Amino acid sequence: MLEIKATETLQEGSIFGQITSMDHEQLVVCHDQATGLKAIIGIHNTILGPALGGTRMWPYASEKEAITDVLRLSRGMSFKNSLAGLNLGGGKAVILGNPKLKNEAFLRRFGRFIESLGGRYVTAEDVNMNTADMEYIRMETKHVAGLPQIKGGSGDPSPVTAFGTYMGMKAAANKAFGSDSLQGKKIGVQGVGQVGKYLIEYLIKEGAEVLVTDIFEDKLKQVAKATGALAVDPNLIYDLQMDIYAPCALGATVNDETIDRLKCRVIAGAANNQLKDEEKHGKILMEKGIIYAPDFLINAGGVINVGAEYLGGYHKDIVFKQTEKIYDTCLSILNKAESENIPAQQAAIEVAKARIEAMGRVKLPF
Ligand code: NAD
Repeated sequence: MLEIKATETLQEGSIFGQITSMDHEQLVVCHDQATGLKAIIGIHNTILGPALGGTRMWPYASEKEAITDVLRLSRGMSFKNSLAGLNLGGGKAVILGNPKLKNEAFLRRFGRFIESLGGRYVTAEDVNMNTADMEYIRMETKHVAGLPQIKGGSGDPSPVTAFGTYMGMKAAANKAFGSDSLQGKKIGVQGVGQVGKYLIEYLIKEGAEVLVTDIFEDKLKQVAKATGALAVDPNLIYDLQMDIYAPCALGATVNDETIDRLKCRVIAGAANNQLKDEEKHGKILMEKGIIYAPDFLINAGGVINVGAEYLGGYHKDIVFKQTEKIYDTCLSILNKAESENIPAQQAAIEVAKARIEAMGRVKLPF
């Protein structure tokens, strides 16, 4: 009989090595020759409920890159959903390839794969996926959220994400400055996309001095003009003197190159995975005295929105009320981080894991 040694299955970089180290339940590889679909679904944890997290379509340079992305993102969803108080687990899907590959057959085939999981995984939009794509997926499975409002869905989650980010930012300001008022605070918003533009409106309304940047100059000028924010060059954002840096574009912007350039007291934004190296950069921020509002905690408005749609009984006011709680959760996590002298990211993960473990015990069969 073939003997499989434990050490062989846990090699660093191997699939089992990775899912063991990140504690995933399942990794599903989906392929369809006819449509060219290549997708990977990562199910991190289903103790709290079905694993909900969006699908991202991206032309990954390698399979390894796609696997790493789906594992990281699905783990993040477990923590995000747990901290948001949702009865939903953590999952995510990635589709490998050029978004131009998408068509009805391609998306419905993907929907069939989701259906085959019997509700263990629920999808929604992420990068390069939109509400129209969700409609095709819905033709093959009910385990999808983020449908257009006109079709009974919850529509664009960005306004709710922006509101939650604003709440988290105010909690972080409270911790850093002793008051949650953002009046007169100099705030740099990186990325004037769906979330950024709504966030800027909240900040301007409160009397903050808002600096905005984006790689698309026309879009940047248009948002600056419409809101009264000051447009700045995308390369300058890390070097500007500001109170709060709000990353609302890409992930990993807090990294070895930028961390010493940042002159802010607070980092609070909507982008996912802001810390390039979760442990290393989280610790450096703490040592530098920069208050970091963990991204997966404060950008949860979107998943609260799609989660409400999936679980049923969607009501916009209730969704905003639930999202408002991000303020209290953020403040208590920042207090925990301070009193235990640990990075905020670590404190947030500990609280998220504690809820998952506690609910696991609640769900004992007898
Ligand atoms: P978006 O694509 O609408 O906007 C992103 C903006 O960032 C674009 O305008 C883009 O041009 C700009 N950008 C890209 N690279 C840049 C750079 N180097 N410098 C400056 N600007 C740059 O995306 P979105 O929906 O607004 O989401 C923003 C971030 O928040 C993403 O990281 C996303 O994953 C995260 N997020 C979004 C939601 C949501 O509800 N939309 C929910 C949770 C997390």
